[in-house]
Amino acid sequence: MKKNTSDNHDHHGEQSVSHNHNDCIDSALATAEILCVEQGQRLTKVRRRALELIWESHRPLGAYQLLAKLAEEGFNSAPPTVYRALDFLLNAGLIHKVESMNAYLGCSHADKDHQGYFLICDDCHNVMESDYQDIHSALIAKAAQQGFELRAKTIELTGLCADCKMPSEGGRT
Ligand SMILES: [Zn+2]
Ligand SMILES: [Zn+2]
Ligand SMILES: [Zn+2]
Repeated sequence: MKKNTSDNHDHHGEQSVSHNHNDCIDSALATAEILCVEQGQRLTKVRRRALELIWESHRPLGAYQLLAKLAEEGFNSAPPTVYRALDFLLNAGLIHKVESMNAYLGCSHADKDHQGYFLICDDCHNVMESDYQDIHSALIAKAAQQGFELRAKTIELTGLCADCKMPSEGGRT
């Protein structure tokens, strides 16, 4: 059992101020365990580790990055194994694919039926997911007016996150 989570911020500077990322990881894995039981699925070792690795940060992870990490740890990291694990996690709703980055992001509300949109930071490449059913419905309705059937499941928007937007010290205004 891990007791102390305060000493692991030395490694990377990501998400430094905003939150304790261990909470994100813990709750994502707990949700995954529950969902797998409910769906009668097994969260095998490689699936679980893949999910953990994707959750290492809020920066989406590419399939080949994941493959490399799993290989380092001695997992069977042949591409089919990794893709099957990714497919499983996608189908279970535990991760999302961020199409514009061709990479995978852990879902923070996998237990709820939701249509998300993604806010992608151009600077740090962190991605925040927001659940906004209204926007989705409005877009579907709007497209339908033009006879267009919308199929995309996600909306991806780019910009600057709160951390990156902070005025740099000593910079001119
Ligand atoms: Zn987090
Ligand atoms: Zn989600
Ligand atoms: Zn940022």
